[in-house]
Amino acid sequence: MKKQQLSIISKALHLKAKELAIIAKEKGKIQQELFVSNQRLEALMNALPVGVTFSTDATCEHITGNPAIIRQMELKPGDNISASTHNKTAVGTKLRHYMNGRLMTAKDMPMQRAIAENREIGPMEIEVVLPSGKRWLMEAVGAPIRDSYGNIVASVAVNIDITERKRLDLVKETKRLLDEERSKVESIADATHELRTPIAIIKGNVDLALLSPGKNPKPARSALRAINYEIKHISSILSELSLITSKAWELKNRILFEELHLKSLIRVVVERCKALAYKKNISIQTGKIPDTTVLGDKMYLEKMLINLIKNSIIYGATDGHTKIDIRKNNGYIVIRVIDDGIGISAEDLPHVFERFYRADKFHSSGGNSIGLGLAIVKWIAEVHGGTVSAESVKNKGSVFSVSFPIKTVA
Ligand code: ADP
Repeated sequence: MKKQQLSIISKALHLKAKELAIIAKEKGKIQQELFVSNQRLEALMNALPVGVTFSTDATCEHITGNPAIIRQMELKPGDNISASTHNKTAVGTKLRHYMNGRLMTAKDMPMQRAIAENREIGPMEIEVVLPSGKRWLMEAVGAPIRDSYGNIVASVAVNIDITERKRLDLVKETKRLLDEERSKVESIADATHELRTPIAIIKGNVDLALLSPGKNPKPARSALRAINYEIKHISSILSELSLITSKAWELKNRILFEELHLKSLIRVVVERCKALAYKKNISIQTGKIPDTTVLGDKMYLEKMLINLIKNSIIYGATDGHTKIDIRKNNGYIVIRVIDDGIGISAEDLPHVFERFYRADKFHSSGGNSIGLGLAIVKWIAEVHGGTVSAESVKNKGSVFSVSFPIKTVA
């Protein structure tokens, strides 16, 4: 070999060696980065308070998890918790999983499904029964893991222990049902009390009439008039009671939704309330009424507005004003009834829509009123897909607002 050829080969070898050194250095760097990123992942897994499970293959033959899930499942590190494993001694085969009370098979599990369906699965609520008999409820989300070519190579799941949350939900729901029951019992007790007075008056009048001399019809007639008045009162209490204590769906079925011209609805209501307002010299002022139709039940919507206007008169100032402000707002009709009367204290205000609530027993209207008017207003607004609210300042006045959709029915 010539000297010149040898020199070329030696130069090439030298270059190759340099290249190899660079590659080795890069490889070292990548390995280092991989190591750090693995360390980071491990630290994260160890610190996470929620359970993470991962498979090392696309068949979920072997599934393990972070310390949180190991603790939760009463396992040893490295235990195989796969339900898909063929190894009959693996812990995974001894665990039981239930969804909606039905025993789950391996292929129903979120990680296995994530692989089979090539998508994220969940959240699923799964009850886990451990070999020790301990039960807990987890919320699991499974997801497939893909390589750089997009092929599924494994899967992962996040498993959150929701046992306590569910227990609290149950406690809350039980409390709500108990409160509902209590309020029903209270309603019945209040109603019994309200009915006792007119019945006692009727009895007193009957006794009086029976005592009076048989030939004189006068006391009997006045007793009958008093009885008649009390009967009217009783029947009005009973009709309000049946409205408020019937099952909501029963009443909803009775509601007749039809297109109503808003202006005519308001005009009729104001006309009917004028006789009441007249006695206290209260003027009812209606601002501009939007020219629109609304979908609702004429009888109930009238009742709702009359209850509000009637209150504004009963609790309004003599020689005062009731203002009715009506606007359209985002597909809703908002009706505000504003008075300049006695107002409601801040502590009473949150309760005025409750059944049988009377803010100020001294001022409350007495007679035919038993604290059901606003509860009925609320019920009617809600059944029309709407809401009610009240603002008030003691001794200044109150604003009651109802709002319900113009077209759609909830
Ligand atoms: P009631 O039949 O006793 O009037 P409501 O349900 O209509 O029952 O009202 C409940 C209570 O709210 C009333 O007893 C009264 O104390 C208070 N209230 C209602 N409307 C007004 C108002 N416009 N101004 C002041 N207080 C009011």
